[in-house]
Amino acid sequence: MKIKVFREPAKLQKWCRARKLAGAKIALVPTMGALHDGHMSLIRAAKRRGADEIVVSVFVNPVQFGPNEDYEKYPRDEKADLAKCAAEGATAVFFPTPANMYLDRHSVYVNEEDLSRGLCGGRRPGHFRGVCTVVAKLFNLAHPDFAVFGQKDYQQAQVIRRMVRDLNFDLKIVVAPIVREKSGLARSSRNAYLSDAERGKALAISKGLGELKPGSSLKALSRSLEKAGLVVDYVECVDAETLEPRKMPKKGCCVLVAAFCGKTRLIDNRVL
Ligand code: AMP
Repeated sequence: MKIKVFREPAKLQKWCRARKLAGAKIALVPTMGALHDGHMSLIRAAKRRGADEIVVSVFVNPVQFGPNEDYEKYPRDEKADLAKCAAEGATAVFFPTPANMYLDRHSVYVNEEDLSRGLCGGRRPGHFRGVCTVVAKLFNLAHPDFAVFGQKDYQQAQVIRRMVRDLNFDLKIVVAPIVREKSGLARSSRNAYLSDAERGKALAISKGLGELKPGSSLKALSRSLEKAGLVVDYVECVDAETLEPRKMPKKGCCVLVAAFCGKTRLIDNRVL
């Protein structure tokens, strides 16, 4: 079957509604495109869970970017994304435009007010408001039985789970493990910004996280990143469920890193 391509929200919604009424199990994989193997792993996870329809959305959502962030230069490659989705077995791709996702005088947003306060939410004001709003819209358009997110964006996955719980969305959230390059670097669309020299420096993140043990010092991790030439945005240890700060890494904690490698902001994490 040829993969379906939707651009109009209403058309995607109509098709998904019909598929759902026909008994199809629908999976949604929300992305910002420039797809890589991390995204493909989410499609594979959807397949393994028996989805009949796998809808991949590709949308660089302007609302989740801050004024001095990389919205304009974020990599976009629709043709390659479509080919990758088709090759991996997705059944539909949704490529909306900002204008048809946010109509004139759009004025309703979704705010998560607990888990999104710290970490990336603290450094990127309004980011999770943008994420929650677009994901809620995608849920209403695709009627998924489940949606797949990556552990790469650990805080995002927790925030979305909370949104689903608190707003009674009738679907399950699946979180898939972080896909890494052979070197250990977590795959990311933003890795495309890195020069060879920067890629070398960026390895300090996955290496440092990989070496963590219960009781390890976060200060030492932070210093090792700075020593490699990165500028640390945060290195934090939190309870893996509540995201409340914890002094030291131990079982049940997640250690999260955000660091600038040149102008590129990279994130990674490890659950102990
Ligand atoms: P993005 O296109 O970066 O917004 O990511 C879309 C989805 O893919 C999110 O749920 C991410 O967590 C997930 N994702 C991105 N990179 C990876 C990776 N290296 N491994 C697993 N999932 C990822």
